Amino acid sequence: MADCAMTPNCLFFNDKMAHMPSTAEMMKRKYCRGDYSNCARFIVLEALGKEGVPADLAPNETEMAKQLLQADRLPGR
Ligand code: SF4
Repeated sequence: MADCAMTPNCLFFNDKMAHMPSTAEMMKRKYCRGDYSNCARFIVLEALGKEGVPADLAPNETEMAKQLLQADRLPGR
């Protein structure tokens, strides 16, 4: 599988997050160089654009990604 197209600009991939998970290298292998369509950052980016991706969102935080997408769909937003 090809690498995620976001790798050049992704805070996580480029180790720019304030609190990198200790499992960062493992996550890069799993998501960035593999199943990026299931990465929480990728999911939010696709749905809300890069402004919608919290700086500290880790690839495995898919529950948080779902909540962000649901919150975006609330009336009044
Ligand atoms: S898979 Fe996720 S964390 Fe990795 S480069 Fe793509 S958006 Fe960033």
